Amino acid sequence: MSLRVIFLGPPGAGKGTQADELAREWGVPHIATGDMLREAARRGTPLGLEAKRFMDEGALVPDDVVIGLVGERLAEPDAVSGAVLDGFPRTVAQAEALDRLLREQGTALDRVIFFNVSRPELLRRLTGRRVCRGCGATYHVVSAPPRVPGVCDRCQGQLEQRVDDREEAVATRLDVYETQTSPLLEYYRRRSILTEIKGEGAVEDVAAAIRTAVGQAVPS
Ligand SMILES: [Zn+2]
Repeated sequence: MSLRVIFLGPPGAGKGTQADELAREWGVPHIATGDMLREAARRGTPLGLEAKRFMDEGALVPDDVVIGLVGERLAEPDAVSGAVLDGFPRTVAQAEALDRLLREQGTALDRVIFFNVSRPELLRRLTGRRVCRGCGATYHVVSAPPRVPGVCDRCQGQLEQRVDDREEAVATRLDVYETQTSPLLEYYRRRSILTEIKGEGAVEDVAAAIRTAVGQAVPS
């Protein structure tokens, strides 16, 4: 079996959770861009060190560096039969570069899954996060509440909402994502490899929809 899949979707769409589970099920690595960059920086590879320079400055890592790292990652032995890419590509330029890269490696994308989640639901998910001031533990007012509201289960510290998780900041993040991603969706739609799935509802139902979309349905 060989399976190269991209999970696309706004922050809060639940891509990471699904990518973790399904990549394990399919026996391919879950490649999340952020983790990949941090790992390469930690290992100190030439590209990793270059990425680190930008991350240390809080700047965006340029496309050619990210693409180079994705290329190296996809050439590693555990990725011979495929990968679930999560958080990459983000732009059409990156998507084109990824296509070239896969062609050079003699492979191609099998499917792009877009997690469609309504804006009110995304806002609810993203603004519900609370972080402990003491130990950094994270909670969610709806999906993972502490035993006592506002108080950390672990250290009794005070929970707070990060500035990034306030409604205004979240709305801006979602706008940026939408603007950036709609041409990308169009790009994959034209190539007939895009499947939109409903990213709301039970985790198991979302997983089932993804399995069907990539032709890896589990026989019941
Ligand atoms: Zn705590």
